[in-house]
Amino acid sequence: MKKSIVIILVVMLISSCTFQTNTNLMDLVLVKETKLVTIYVKKTDQDINEMVDNISSEFENQSKGLNDMFQVSPPQKATIHIYTDKEQFRQMIGRDTEGTYDVSDNIIKVYTPSDLSRIDVRNEYTFQIIHEYVHAIIQQLNKEVGNIKWLDEGTAYYASKQLETEIKNKKYVNISVPDLSDILNSQAYFDEAGGQAYYFSGLIVQFIYEKYGEAKFNKIIREPEKMETILNRSIEDLYIEWKNYVNYLYE
Ligand SMILES: [Zn+2]
Repeated sequence: MKKSIVIILVVMLISSCTFQTNTNLMDLVLVKETKLVTIYVKKTDQDINEMVDNISSEFENQSKGLNDMFQVSPPQKATIHIYTDKEQFRQMIGRDTEGTYDVSDNIIKVYTPSDLSRIDVRNEYTFQIIHEYVHAIIQQLNKEVGNIKWLDEGTAYYASKQLETEIKNKKYVNISVPDLSDILNSQAYFDEAGGQAYYFSGLIVQFIYEKYGEAKFNKIIREPEKMETILNRSIEDLYIEWKNYVNYLYE
């Protein structure tokens, strides 16, 4: 008797999970398809037309430059799922975030408010989507990049031009650079340092890109384990070079 109750409960649990997933997918409505992107929005009563037009035209404008930068020509359009309810988005993802890219389903998922009329809000959420698109490009080139946090997040932060804005803001100008061990242990460093970790990782990528060039940078994205050979420097020497680069950045 007891056993059958357990079985019934398990079956109920499984079917409610399946139902949940299906409901989520069914509630996503295809709202826009352009040459480069397909956008779905989670069903809502809010007026989303202007936001979707905004996002899709920014995506069209910026994604071509990024494809050139990384020397890729994506075989298919990017897919973006937009949620306009922040809490709903967090529940769906299962952690506190406003955007994510998952290499297993190749879908960019973001929270974006339906009202983007304020320029700072529009910029922030455009950055967000472009940032996730950079993750999509580089993790499709080599999914291992997703495990090298400084390279993955630093590249997304640099290529989406979030770093450029942050350098202008000078928010982190007086903060000393992280140790080499922080960078190499970057998951723990990101958990602890938050925004700073994105900033300094972006600066590592900018340093490599500016000092060693686009071709070598692209080689590193494809074969990150060969970075020392590609740049013909030891990690320790690169770290010292980078530290000097950061110290002269604001002069
Ligand atoms: Zn990211």
